This record gives sequence, structure tokens and C-alpha cells, in this order.
Amino acid sequence: MDIKEKAEPLLRFFWPASCAGCDCLGEYLCALCRAKILPFRPSCFYCGRASVHGTTCFSCRGDGRAERVIVAAHYADPVVRALVRELKFGSVKDIADILAGIMLPPILSAIAGLSRDALFLCPIPLHPRRKRVRGFDQARLMADALSEALGIKTVPLLRRDRYSPPQARLPAETRFRGANIAGSFSISDNTVPAGKIPILVDDVITSGATLSEAVKVVRAAGFAEVWSAFAASGN
Ligand SMILES: [Zn+2]
Ligand SMILES: [Zn+2]
Repeated sequence: MDIKEKAEPLLRFFWPASCAGCDCLGEYLCALCRAKILPFRPSCFYCGRASVHGTTCFSCRGDGRAERVIVAAHYADPVVRALVRELKFGSVKDIADILAGIMLPPILSAIAGLSRDALFLCPIPLHPRRKRVRGFDQARLMADALSEALGIKTVPLLRRDRYSPPQARLPAETRFRGANIAGSFSISDNTVPAGKIPILVDDVITSGATLSEAVKVVRAAGFAEVWSAFAASGN
């Protein structure tokens, strides 16, 4: 147990959980505010056209593009934004479970009828340096929560090799070119048989540059079809 975990109950005593939507005390998201979160309309991430379960349309497919981008909610939704910020910058680990809960309905519809064994969850990892500062890797926590709820294994297939400054701090033109992302990932675990479908998991997708790099690496490792799932889209 590290110092952050030890301090957690003390912190909660002085700063009890409050709802990201209405500030009511006791939980980070109350049932009423949760019900008000607008679900993301399933669409092709790359062109925005409506598509079932976020399936990438045929003309948008390519090497660095996931065959499915499943998104649960909008980052513009103030409640969703507050939850993501509290998780990442307030280091409130419990919110990973809440975001995973929001992701469940669209993932469940996307995997309906498929064997859980044919799939695995793969967090899009933080660089170890960022993980050390934050105390945890939110994508890993979300993948583990999803794993428990869905009965699909988590395999940390990817490792982040290059430290890149947080996307939000870069000028927009650099962000969209994905210049600071190239070469960020490598494979850390190649024990998964090809033929399974990896579902890459992260909290927010914005330009898609990080996803693109992750997809390229995973595809090069032999996975022909790659899916991804996010709590929110910034688009
Ligand atoms: Zn509330
Ligand atoms: Zn498309």
C-alpha cells in the first residue's frame, strides 16, 4: 500500500464524495444525474456518419483505424467532463468504475451474440512516468472494471515507450498531425493468440491520433481486427 492509498480514507473523511452533476453528498454520480447523461449516437468515428455500434464504414477503413470505435458519452457534457477531470487530475480512483459503468450499455450491444473468449480488453496505457505521478493508470482501472462486469479478460498488450506531454497542452495543429504520438507504443505481452479481437480502452478520444498509433502497433502484432471503447468523445 502506498502513501496515496493510505491517505485515501482520511481524504474522503474531510472531502466526502459528491455528485459531479448536482453536488449531493455520498457518491460521485447520483442515479438521477447518471440517467441524464446523453448517450453518444453510434457513428463512424472517422466521418461521423451514423453506423451500428460505432462500426467504421468501409470507405474509412485503413491501417491505423479501428474497425469499431465505441463511445458512451460526450466530453462536452459537463457531468462527464467533471468525472473525467476528477479521475485524472483529482486522482479519484473510484470514478474509473463509474466511467466503466457508463461504457457498459454500448459495449454490451456491440458484443451481443459474440463469445467473450473471442475478445479481450487492452488498456491504452500511460507512460510509466505519468502513472507514477498520478498513482494509477486510469485506462487500466477502467479495463479491469469492464473486465469484471463483462467477463472479458484484460490483457495489457501495449506499453507506452515515449513520454509525450498531455495532448491538451499542445497547439491544435500539432495535436491533429499526431506528431508527438508517433512511435509511442510497443507490444509488452505477445501471449494472446491472434484471431482474438482486442478492444482498446481509454477514457476520452479527441483527435484519434493516440488511438491510431495504438491500432497500428496492435495490428502489426497480428490482430487483423481491432476495436476500441471510450467513455467520452471530444468531437
Ligand atoms: Zn447528482
Ligand atoms: Zn466513415
